[in-house]
Amino acid sequence: MSKSYGDMPAEEFKKYGHELIDWVTNYLESVGSLPVLPNINPGDVKSKLPAHAPQSGEPINKIIEDLNKIILPGTTHWQHPNFMAYFNSTASGPGILGELISAAFNVNSMLWKSAPASTELEETVLSWFREIINLPKEFLGIIYDTASVSSMHAIAAARENAGFDIRKNGMSGIPKLCLYCSEQAHNSIDKGALALGIGLDGIRKIPVDSEFKMITSELEKAIKEDRANGCVPFCVVATIGTTSTTSVDPVEEIAKTCAREKIWLHVDAAHAGVTAMLPEMKKHFKGVEQADSFVVNPHKWLFVPVDLSILYTRRPEILKRAFSLTAEYLKTAEDTSVNNHMDYGIQLGRRFRSLKFWFVLRYFGIAGLQARLREHIRLGQLFAKWIDEHPQFERVAPTPFSTVCFRAKPNKWNDEQKLNKLNEKLMNTVNSTGKIFITHTKLNGKFTIRLVISGLRTEEKHVEFAWNLIQDTFQQILNEG
Ligand SMILES: *Cc1c(COP(=O)(O)O)cnc(C)c1O
Repeated sequence: MSKSYGDMPAEEFKKYGHELIDWVTNYLESVGSLPVLPNINPGDVKSKLPAHAPQSGEPINKIIEDLNKIILPGTTHWQHPNFMAYFNSTASGPGILGELISAAFNVNSMLWKSAPASTELEETVLSWFREIINLPKEFLGIIYDTASVSSMHAIAAARENAGFDIRKNGMSGIPKLCLYCSEQAHNSIDKGALALGIGLDGIRKIPVDSEFKMITSELEKAIKEDRANGCVPFCVVATIGTTSTTSVDPVEEIAKTCAREKIWLHVDAAHAGVTAMLPEMKKHFKGVEQADSFVVNPHKWLFVPVDLSILYTRRPEILKRAFSLTAEYLKTAEDTSVNNHMDYGIQLGRRFRSLKFWFVLRYFGIAGLQARLREHIRLGQLFAKWIDEHPQFERVAPTPFSTVCFRAKPNKWNDEQKLNKLNEKLMNTVNSTGKIFITHTKLNGKFTIRLVISGLRTEEKHVEFAWNLIQDTFQQILNEG
């Protein structure tokens, strides 16, 4: 240990920096041979860690030793090729390297002046990406950490847009505000509305059709009823790629309703929004050009390390009106000629997130990203076909992208409760092998297994492996009776 008052000595940083890059390389090379889900119980990791921080500094190789002994075995491996749970997010090589450099700069991107390159790279990269996903020019992008936070800011802008001078007066003494989303919308919408004082009673869950898409006539009916009861409809959230099934709400129809009713339209495309870069997927994005705001997460299906979510809005001045306040110590000479990103949200401090996105976009190129998304969609459709061809399995929802919702349904089994138990057991048994990781949802009361293909390291052989393991496990459960 050095006796100086400064940072780790440069030589030591360099030595262990190289060692850890080797560590990362080996990890990514061999992650497929590790159990995707660790075989551990709650508390196991904590019990191996000391209860108190060390009094004196420890050598970095001892920290790396514990990384290998304690942290690695306690990790669920999102980078594993057989991670087919939730919505996958894989970190690519260029993304990891970009993250390293943003940690090294450690700029705080609150003002243009505090981080000019970060501010301008963010604006440039988000303008590139806006073009790539075919959003019109008037949409301005801003980076937040997650889609939950992006959507909360969209709802805040919608609330600001509703009038009533809430910015000045707060929420008391105004009519009840109502927000609309489908029964299948992500609960981050509920959380955003909760944080903004809309209250659970102000959130209207619109029913969906047999393909889990919002029914526009039901939306119109609800708006009409609410208006008659003195409520003020202020925001509709449509989803492109819902979390359970990746269903796509009829955005074009919903946009017409919103235009007529003068209601803010927010589109949540956190997972599936990246596929707007594929001409063959354009059909799912009709009407988005009329939205007031649109959220997409490059950290989900575009190989950018967590976290990076983008909110695009055609009305940035309203978002800014909802949040901007400038303290004297943050005033700069350039305030009238630049965007100070702190003006567009709750947080003052912001990481240099655009750097890793820039690395990813440049390294793969548009064509490289399109090719990877297409391959995932091809694999998803292939898995869906295998399910359809199997007499004792069925799909529970359509497969517009690469998320397949399915369940086992043995011949002559009609008792839904028994089927639910069977499928739950099937999923848990498969996951307990540590070889693949899949998760579930409930659709119309049916326990439904979801298999998601969006991992950078997932190839056809992995999908085939998963399908064989699922079929073998199913047979084994049936044989055991
Ligand atoms: C994943 C997801 C979210 C939440 O994303 P975070 O970035 O984790 O907050 C919201 N909406 C949809 C449709 C999603 O798929």
